[in-house]
Amino acid sequence: SHRIKLGPLVAAIDQGTSSTRFLVFNSTTSELLSHHQVEIKQSFPKEGWVEEDPKEILQSVYECMERTCEKLTQLNIDISNIKAIGVTNQRETTIVWDKETGEPLYNAVVWLDLRTQSTVENLISKTPGRNKNHLKHKTGLPISTYFSAVKLRWLMDNVDEVHQAVLSHRAMFGTVDSWLIWCLTGGQSGGVHCTDVTNASRTMLFNIHTMDWDPELCKYFGIPMEILPRVRSSSEIYGLMKISSSRKSGALSGIPISGCLGDQSAALVGQMCFQDGQAKNTYGTGCFLLRNTGAKPVMSDHGLLTTVAYKLGRDKPACYALEGSVAIAGAVVRWLQDNLGIIASHEELEKLAAGVGTSYGCYFVPAFSGLYAPYWEPSARGIICGLTQFTNKSHLAFAALEAVCFQTREILDAMNQDSGIPLTQLQVDGGMTSNRLLMQLQADILCIPVVKPSMPETTALGAAMAAGAAEGVSVWSLNPEDLSEVTSEKFEPQINPEESEFRYARWKKAVQRAMNWET
Ligand code: ADP
Repeated sequence: SHRIKLGPLVAAIDQGTSSTRFLVFNSTTSELLSHHQVEIKQSFPKEGWVEEDPKEILQSVYECMERTCEKLTQLNIDISNIKAIGVTNQRETTIVWDKETGEPLYNAVVWLDLRTQSTVENLISKTPGRNKNHLKHKTGLPISTYFSAVKLRWLMDNVDEVHQAVLSHRAMFGTVDSWLIWCLTGGQSGGVHCTDVTNASRTMLFNIHTMDWDPELCKYFGIPMEILPRVRSSSEIYGLMKISSSRKSGALSGIPISGCLGDQSAALVGQMCFQDGQAKNTYGTGCFLLRNTGAKPVMSDHGLLTTVAYKLGRDKPACYALEGSVAIAGAVVRWLQDNLGIIASHEELEKLAAGVGTSYGCYFVPAFSGLYAPYWEPSARGIICGLTQFTNKSHLAFAALEAVCFQTREILDAMNQDSGIPLTQLQVDGGMTSNRLLMQLQADILCIPVVKPSMPETTALGAAMAAGAAEGVSVWSLNPEDLSEVTSEKFEPQINPEESEFRYARWKKAVQRAMNWET
């Protein structure tokens, strides 16, 4: 058989909230050669609770790796060309497992989960001046249900297995990156317990100035530091893949795992936003706009987070970003489908919405998990308003897409106010960007062009780049002049700014009605 001549390949595990992917890139051209994707089940055991099964997550990674390897073999591409593997993941989602048995001690508590709302309100009420930004000077984050520390605290207080394992020094805590890297490097027989600076910066236990776990923060949340993973840079060899030869993905054994970035950081890298001021917005389950602020952490006055963007090597400087996080974007599509049953798929949603081309004055604020940036209001709840006898499900579908665009507009306004330099166009990516109506609507509502790369898997690309560039792997150069040009598609605003402002003002009114619903 004749094998295709290729440069070194680099793979990425992309473990998102809705699905897991494994992807293989050619490091010389950034071309995506093969990939496989598996959906992840989410369970909602109680109102506001969101869980996933850590073993299902791990199993989905194995399945994606196996199927991708099969596809590569069919393409006559030798698996041994894969020189490194990067990991990128849904952030903040919290897992505790037993290091002796390798078993998770509870389901993964997903970032969207609201079970810690009363704990959070309690913590805030005890701060001087009831200030949710009490820990922001160290963490860059407001006290919120979103971050890992309160989820971990809940697990220690409410799950006996977790409590016992902590007492007997058998507990390990990790976000999804740590769980996967530990399992894939050998688990209970020698697995590496680590995380990278970007994931660590989302726990509320990490000091973004010292770039390490902060003993005072750990004490504040009552977290024993011995259960925390070691914090590493986003690009270095953490360990080698160790997979039983009985598995079809066994051929990947021995390959270094050498890149790790939270999904939003990975997308920033994959979009090549390496310069101070460059930004991207990713539309997945939620929606996340990150703007690179270079070597200095910038504190927002407008409800944005300060987060570690990346640190691409042990001896490289850390870069920071301002982030606007929106909890519900693609999740609203899934809600219309699964909970209301008024659409069968996101394709149908797009068709219905495009068919009417207007929400007919209907506004939908999907504050299912409270409101994140710029409000950080856990007691907000979703509302649909402006209904008339004329409203139908097509208008509702349109309003759902428009909600994603309005939420982005709020973040972009905050970002522009914080930095003083308005963005002149918005780079986008993520699963939802396949929706062309959404992209056009976004340009209309922002009144600036929206630019989408033709290769949509930028999150995975960023993780692969970090893995390929690591010391000791060095098959991918991150020098700006060596990076291949990305081809992209541009959506220009088509409605007049007055019309856009009118709709945005209505949206803001709707948001006010969603606020403080529970208080
Ligand atoms: P994540 O990384 O959070 O797992 P993805 O980037 O894979 O998310 O995007 C999946 C989300 O995007 C799902 O919530 C899905 O409902 C939504 N989605 C995907 N394609 C479309 C589309 N064409 N129109 C609207 N929503 C979409």
